[in-house]
Amino acid sequence: MVILGSGCSGLTAAIYCARAGLQPLVIEGREAGGQLSLTTLVENFPGFPSGIQGPELVENMREQAKAFGTDFATGDVTAAHLGERPFTLHLEDQPEPIHAAALIIASGARARWLDLPSEQALIGHGVSSCATCDGFFFRDKDIIVVGGGDSAMEEALFLTRFAKSVTIVHRRDEFRASKIMLDRARQHAKIKWITGAQITEVLDVDKKEVTGVRLQSTNGRHPASWEMPISAVFLGIGHEPNTRVFRGQLATDADGYLLTRDAVFTEIPGVYAAGDVQDRRYRQAITASGSGCMAAMEAERFLQHAGH
Ligand code: NAP
Repeated sequence: MVILGSGCSGLTAAIYCARAGLQPLVIEGREAGGQLSLTTLVENFPGFPSGIQGPELVENMREQAKAFGTDFATGDVTAAHLGERPFTLHLEDQPEPIHAAALIIASGARARWLDLPSEQALIGHGVSSCATCDGFFFRDKDIIVVGGGDSAMEEALFLTRFAKSVTIVHRRDEFRASKIMLDRARQHAKIKWITGAQITEVLDVDKKEVTGVRLQSTNGRHPASWEMPISAVFLGIGHEPNTRVFRGQLATDADGYLLTRDAVFTEIPGVYAAGDVQDRRYRQAITASGSGCMAAMEAERFLQHAGH
């Protein structure tokens, strides 16, 4: 029983598989712990009335999985062969492939970032890619949302519940967002707009908190470069599911998310998909954990019927 991914989906699957006596192997890649390990306080995971730090929550799940007999292998998967059982996975820097009688793919999706050093340094200190996770911390503050697609509109609209103002910063003048989302955002009194500009630096790394941004014009209508005071920067520039190694073997939508039937079934018997790798809609720790549980129960049933 192999589980690819060590975020809350993969680790919940591991807890269930391990308790069922399947001795699962969890493959944790370079981004072990998934997106929870990039957040700070998690206040909406049931069972923690005072909240819990994201890294602590995922580490607790890892310990719980380990306590029931889960094994761990480290390394990114470089190739996968799902054409016949046992399925085969190749890990970077490991000569021996891993064989799986059943496989749960819980490799998640990574948020796209601007990839600025200052932005990376301030993740969890005012820079976030998750409005539902972190918006609450910026009550009555001025916030920026970056992006021009539906994700950015959705994040901006959500953040108006807390923020004093939300400024959408988009690098072009045209938007990818659907008309309905764009109209909704345009009609909102708290939402302001800066189009034709991009962030070149998030301030202030030395203070370990976001105090502003440096912006650059992309359309010649703004000053070449200027600073704007702000308390938080939310990235709404999309996510990328980690499905590259399964391309051509499993069905995906246009953006690479695995397509599933009945929540967790892929078209290959014995291969299940759980969490953000197949969910572009909810993307919550609790929903990822829930689908990890479902995948584990289906995998257990599959292995039982297959005589394992
Ligand atoms: P998207 O449609 O690909 O939009 C990404 C946006 O981020 C684009 O405006 C893009 O700018 C911008 N961007 C990308 N990289 C950037 C960078 N390095 N610097 C600055 N800006 C950058 O992604 P999405 O908004 O996540 O939506 C993905 C899919 O999910 C869409 O099909 C969307 O309809 C769907 N979705 C729907 C809903 C909903 O209906 N409630 C909510 C969320 C997502 P450019 O336009 O200049 O390329």
